[in-house]
Formats: sequence, structure tokens, C-alpha cells
Amino acid sequence: MKTIGLLGGMSWESTIPYYRIINEEVKNRLGGLHSAKIVLYSVEFDEIEKCQSSGDWEKSGRILGRAAQGLEAAGADFILICTNTMHKVAPQIASMIKISVIHIADATADALKQCGISRVGLLGTRYTMTQDFYKKRLAERGFEVLIPGEADIETVNSVIFEELCRGVIREGSREKFKEIIEKLKDDGAEAVILGCTEIGLLIRQSDVSVPVFDTTVIHAKRAAQLALAGEA
Ligand code: GLU
Repeated sequence: MKTIGLLGGMSWESTIPYYRIINEEVKNRLGGLHSAKIVLYSVEFDEIEKCQSSGDWEKSGRILGRAAQGLEAAGADFILICTNTMHKVAPQIASMIKISVIHIADATADALKQCGISRVGLLGTRYTMTQDFYKKRLAERGFEVLIPGEADIETVNSVIFEELCRGVIREGSREKFKEIIEKLKDDGAEAVILGCTEIGLLIRQSDVSVPVFDTTVIHAKRAAQLALAGEA
């Protein structure tokens, strides 16, 4: 079994499900007392968020690159960056290590393709929804990506940073997310990507009438599969 490196803490609320899902996957596959080999580097999210909001992505990439080097030195065979947003600096992080980075958008694209989906809604932070680094990667794989209107972008972004990343789950916010997801469906989305690793803490498949693709679940399961296959 390969050792999985988790670059987490962004936020730590969403790193917990990664740890649980990976271990559940290994348990389901191997049974008994089997569990995953995991190394976790959990960063100080306030430091990273300050880089995001001040636009100093290079600095955040350096911090995360150093953390990734720590994972490599600790024996990780490959790493997951446990946030969609910080994949903006995935190339910078990857350039600082020899082991591979399993990209969250690639794992998600594979899952969408398997279901025959081509037009997809995307929810995430403002950075993920409005900038190119994530949407372009999906577009290059042949997906048409729909995002909410400006007011809804603001709602989703502030619920992520003001509530979900702080462990606050509000029924009112769940209702707002449900409406935004249904609007994306009405706009023609065949499925909606929960493209922020905390959204799965708020929204379940049973809350909405369109298929949702939870990037945390997809990414974590991919890691377990790769570790068990002895790949990456
Ligand atoms: N975990 C979130 C994501 O998947 C947001 C936190 C961050 O800005 O990294 O994008």
C-alpha cells in the first residue's frame, strides 16, 4: 500500500472528512483491521487566507510547497491538496517536490465523464468560480461550466468563509444553496460540482434534484484507490 500525503487544514473542517473517507474506503476494500497509510500536514489557514485576500498567491504557494516537501520527506508517495481553491498554486507546489500531486479537478472530471455529463454547474469560493485555473482545466476536458450570478457568487463565497470553514452549519444557508443549485439546473446544468471541500458539510445529494459531485469524496476515494493499487 502506498502512503498518502494530505496537505490539509484549508480548512481543517474539511480535512476531517478526507481522513475518514480514505480510511473507510480502505476498510471497505480490505476489511478487518486494515487502514490507510496517511501523512498529514495541516497548515495555519488564517495565514493562507490572508495570502488569498491580498492576492499574494506566490507566497501561499511557497508555504504550501514547503509543507509538501515535509510530506515527501515523511514518506508520502503522492499528495492531495485538500482544497479546490489552492489548486490555483498546484503547479508551484508540484515544482517543489518529486512526488505527484493528484489534482482535484482531474479526479472530478473523471467522475463526471463516467456519468456521461458534459454541462456542469460549479460552486466554490469566488476564486474557484470566477478565475480560470479550475474552470479552464474542466473546459480543456470538454466540459461546459456554468457558474451562479454575481449575487449568488457572493452568498456562496461568504457562507464558505464565514460559516463552513468555521464549523458553522445554518439551515438558512442550506436553503440558499439548494435554491442556487436548482437555478443552475434550470440554466441547463446536468450536474453540479461541490467545488469547495466544505460544501459537503452543508449539502447532501438528498437535498437537491440534480446530481451533485462532492469533490472531497471524489478526491479522497481516488487517493484510496491509488494507494491500494500501489500507483502514483
Ligand atoms: N476548502 C475550500 C476549497 O475547497 C476553501 C478554502 C480555501 O480557500 O482553501 O476551495
